[in-house]
Amino acid sequence: MSNRTYEDVVKYVEEQNHKKCKVLSAKPEQTFEDLGVEVRVWNVKTDNEGSWWVVEGDTVPMNLYPQDAYYFGTDEAYSFHMGIMQRMKASTYKPEDYVSAMTMDSDIAPQLFRKLKKIATLIDTAVEVEDFQAIGVQCREVLIELGNLIYFPEMAGENEQPQASNFKKKAELFVQYYLAGSDNSDYRSIIKKLTESTWDYSNKITHSQNATFYEASSCVSLCTSLVGVYENVRQKATDLLAQYKCKNCTSKKLEINDHEATEKGIVTKLFLECEECGEVTEIIFENTEE
Ligand SMILES: [Zn+2]
Repeated sequence: MSNRTYEDVVKYVEEQNHKKCKVLSAKPEQTFEDLGVEVRVWNVKTDNEGSWWVVEGDTVPMNLYPQDAYYFGTDEAYSFHMGIMQRMKASTYKPEDYVSAMTMDSDIAPQLFRKLKKIATLIDTAVEVEDFQAIGVQCREVLIELGNLIYFPEMAGENEQPQASNFKKKAELFVQYYLAGSDNSDYRSIIKKLTESTWDYSNKITHSQNATFYEASSCVSLCTSLVGVYENVRQKATDLLAQYKCKNCTSKKLEINDHEATEKGIVTKLFLECEECGEVTEIIFENTEE
């Protein structure tokens, strides 16, 4: 079933030739269906701009090819057109997919996700040094936003509050707050290194006169994965069960089976049942009420 009419094709060819010619005749020369979509090749003759093949179909954009230059027949015009359409389809780059993949599909705060998506869009079209510098600027912005999102004043304890845009300090206090103890020391240390190098590198790209696509792209990767890391720490902090194992078989497949709480509803004890062996592990919380 043809959606495009004779008039559509005539109008298209005259417009593509900046209305410097008149179409003398246009007729569907051949119809192809071998790729599962009906595609027609029209034979169009004009008064002073030669003859054209116009390829169009139900879900296929219209395009025209000169008959006397490179595209000899309907078959060649068809193959060429569909090849280009398929390549365009295959190379569709989705910035949000990039961000999701880099952060292992972690839940990312919407305001950060939006900014990361924007950066991932920018890198796709960046060409000039200024484009790369702009990417450095955007990365810095994301990190400052990340600092504001993860930090709250209690994290500083008795110490002075960090300045609003002091990402490194806020990140450090956040990590100290959520990842205390010797069990976390390796995790803390790698996060600290990643945080500092990502911040420093973003600043470097911002001022770099010789950054190429590759440095800017590394900067985007670092920045995106760092956001993922901080979201992981936040999620770990709220995932009550993540740190526990079955006391019998050490499985981590635990489910809350019962709990004890004070009159005010503060949980003092959790009973975690192991899915593997059925053993119940008791977790006692310090009662901080008094
Ligand atoms: Zn067990």
